[in-house]
Amino acid sequence: MSINISLKDSNRGDHARQIDRRPDVCPLCHHAIELTEYHYAYFNTATNQAQLVHRCPRVKCQGLFFANYGLSTSTGRLHFSNVSPTTNVPRTFSDIVSKTSKEFCDIYDQARASESQGHLNV
Ligand SMILES: [Zn+2]
Repeated sequence: MSINISLKDSNRGDHARQIDRRPDVCPLCHHAIELTEYHYAYFNTATNQAQLVHRCPRVKCQGLFFANYGLSTSTGRLHFSNVSPTTNVPRTFSDIVSKTSKEFCDIYDQARASESQGHLNV
């Protein structure tokens, strides 16, 4: 699947490109979403990377986020990389774990949130 988009660069130049797909899960509310539009598309000519601004279509969320893409020099298309920012969904621990050590549960969730943001050495 290829989707035609129009991007702007830092000099307000126009770029017509294709993306391979849109995000299908909101990184803020973590619900499945179906995006049909974007609000702004930026192409960084120095890094060959693109960012599309989306708004979650769920009424209870409506958060803004970026879909990040990298340019494939072989296909000339922008390939989906990730979404940002992301929020952490706390893990639900069993009663015995959470009653034994609330601190463990908190530290686990903090480490998981840090990992999801790309901080792998924290
Ligand atoms: Zn959302």
